[in-house]
Amino acid sequence: MKYNCCEFLLHQIAFYNDKVRPCCSFSIEKNNLFSDIYEGDLGGIEKYLLIRKKYIEMFKNGEKPPCYNGCTLYSNITSDNDSFKLNNLIISHRTYCSFSCIYCEPSTGDDKKRKEIINAKKIYDIKPILLELRNCNLIEKGCRFLICGGECSEYPKIELAWLLYYSISNDCSLLLLSSGVNYSNEIASILKINNSVLKISVDAGTKDVFYKIKRVDAYDKVWRNIERYISVTQKYKGTNSRVELKYIIIPGINDTITEVDAFIKKCKQAECKYVRIDVEHAWIAQNKYKKDTQESVSKIINYFFDKLYNDNEIKIDFEGVEKDWLWDFVKNKYQIGQIGD
Ligand code: SF4
Repeated sequence: MKYNCCEFLLHQIAFYNDKVRPCCSFSIEKNNLFSDIYEGDLGGIEKYLLIRKKYIEMFKNGEKPPCYNGCTLYSNITSDNDSFKLNNLIISHRTYCSFSCIYCEPSTGDDKKRKEIINAKKIYDIKPILLELRNCNLIEKGCRFLICGGECSEYPKIELAWLLYYSISNDCSLLLLSSGVNYSNEIASILKINNSVLKISVDAGTKDVFYKIKRVDAYDKVWRNIERYISVTQKYKGTNSRVELKYIIIPGINDTITEVDAFIKKCKQAECKYVRIDVEHAWIAQNKYKKDTQESVSKIINYFFDKLYNDNEIKIDFEGVEKDWLWDFVKNKYQIGQIGD
């Protein structure tokens, strides 16, 4: 029997520091669904899986579950599959990061305050939970295994190695989001094999702007680490393995031609072949439907694409979350993302 369902509900699970949920829709928060406070217990996972099953059944019966009300993220999928396997696992149970990026939620307020908040967080052990998902046969072959919170190069080495091994042994494709603050031998090792992507958000081409955004003096160190990681991928040439560099446009801070030129120059020096651009999400939330405030952002996005779309060395694409909306800025000239998900 074919039915319409939400793609996230069917195929994704995200572990945050105090929550487990299918997506980041505000409707879940607002309606207090799935789990109130999650502290990493197996009982909590069983409860989550039961609610998920109930909501999927509602979709199958042509009804809408409570999380659908007020949801802006819903992504329709027609399915005739009854196994509901996961093809997207988001690991974000840790919060520690020595950077203090101005667009990062715990960074709002001053740096000291951010550190106090982060240091107070209790971290749960994610390993038994992931084993439980595997024992329930819920992991689809090729599942994307995304490690994104806090800073993965600052995870305890043993835990990071365990997670990377879990990803390989379950035939997942790995995506690591990093600030690039540390060079991690564990991450470098995984880049030697297939289906491993390391995405580093640099967001700047010059030291001054880098410091303004990250609030840590680590510009040279980060670019050195990027070069080292890229040299690993060049040497081992794993299929679908690469280092991507990201530039989040932050209006009023790094939305200048000078900064973009400096960033592209650094990318070329590091022999980076993949660049993704994005726009600060808080700015998108406020300005998505205000055409008159989008001029400077539009100018920079167009400049990026004019410089790189036909470049011989670097491929350019948008970041995934608001990708469809971002394509609107260049759709008259460019239509196809060059990197893909
Ligand atoms: S319907 Fe909305 S809130 Fe519910 S799982 Fe899908 S995206 Fe998330």
